[in-house]
Amino acid sequence: MTRFNTQLVHGLPVNDNNTGAVNPPIYNSSTYAFESVETMPRWDYSRSGNPTREFLERQIAQLEHGTRGFAFASGLAAIHAVLSIFKPGDRIVVGKNIYGGTYSLFNEYFAERGITFEPVDTADYEALDDAVAGRKRVTFDGRELEATIPAKAVYFEVLTNPLIQVNNVNRIAAVAHRHGAIAIVDNTFVTPYLQQPLDLGADVVIHSATKYLAGHSEVTAGLVVVLDEEIGRKIYFAQNRFGGVLQPTECNDVRRGIQTLALRMDRQQANAQAIAEYLLAHPLVKTVHYPGVQRDHAKVLAENGLRGFGGVLSFEVVPGVDPGVVLNNLRIFRLAVSLGAVESLAEFPARMTHFELPKEERLKVGITDELIRLAIGIEDATDLIEDLGQALDKAYEVYVRDHAEAESLSQLASGVFA
Ligand SMILES: *Cc1c(COP(=O)(O)O)cnc(C)c1O
Repeated sequence: MTRFNTQLVHGLPVNDNNTGAVNPPIYNSSTYAFESVETMPRWDYSRSGNPTREFLERQIAQLEHGTRGFAFASGLAAIHAVLSIFKPGDRIVVGKNIYGGTYSLFNEYFAERGITFEPVDTADYEALDDAVAGRKRVTFDGRELEATIPAKAVYFEVLTNPLIQVNNVNRIAAVAHRHGAIAIVDNTFVTPYLQQPLDLGADVVIHSATKYLAGHSEVTAGLVVVLDEEIGRKIYFAQNRFGGVLQPTECNDVRRGIQTLALRMDRQQANAQAIAEYLLAHPLVKTVHYPGVQRDHAKVLAENGLRGFGGVLSFEVVPGVDPGVVLNNLRIFRLAVSLGAVESLAEFPARMTHFELPKEERLKVGITDELIRLAIGIEDATDLIEDLGQALDKAYEVYVRDHAEAESLSQLASGVFA
């Protein structure tokens, strides 16, 4: 079998109807002719199946080391389909710090339909074990008893957003399986280039392919990969019956994006590392959240079965410096949500991606009012660093001006000039 980088480009044979085309054709057809009323054709209707979509679905299944893949119109459509395999009364343990849209889908939609979500710190394996086991003290017949109602699944992201904490798929999946639950992993920030969660014990892998896999801020798309046939059957049902399928042209955009995944990721990670190191040394920066600058980063990679930390990082400016001034003065970084594309983006989590979280909750998980998130692209690192440098300079000028004014005001008030 070929290796990963070759698989990205040549993973599947191209069935091009004998034209010699090196790329698979885009089948823009919603319906397909039957040969006769007696025959059942391979394809009949595009919601149920489309050859272009199938190519992408088989491509992601191969890269994630799964048995079956599914393509959806967005990451959230994919997550909705996966969650639909659960029933009222089921309990799902959810990692803290999941994507805001997922959090809202769980708590404002599925929770109202009888599924219970229990947030847990997935780095605390004892708390995780208790939560998955569902251990509860109950009083029965005057006696204290321990009742257990195990969860049906654990749902988490490998690299959390925006603080880039690492979740250990192997250990979390082992806890889930100990109690008969499945492990569902959102691998959006990681991609199969850096880790295949199914190899580490996960049962279902989800992607917002909008991000790294498509990689050019052109399409919204979602992908799911499974190992188990029965889970696959249920997710196919959801795909075909909810109908949130990815259209053939977009399937081709994602397929093409995947071919350059490794090249893009290599540059994005090298740039992210250089920028994190620059920020760490900057006097206006209080903290940098990127595991690549931790002293034990090689150990963190090895322990977690990761081949890199991706291209997203975040940092906090020192108190008194306005992160808004930094963000408003960036010239190469665009002020935008999303990530994983060729261009670098910067955003303000407290107001742009995590505003749905109540302030108290937001601060509790470390998303402060000084935090800036960067999604690094493939530009020259030096240009990106210079851009950040000049924006931080502007923020410093404003800081000095405001403090000088505040100083003279307080001097006025205290009568120094009287
Ligand atoms: C963007 C994102 C999603 C949602 O995907 P869409 O394609 O926007 O629907 C889910 N999970 C993570 C981690 C994401 O970054």
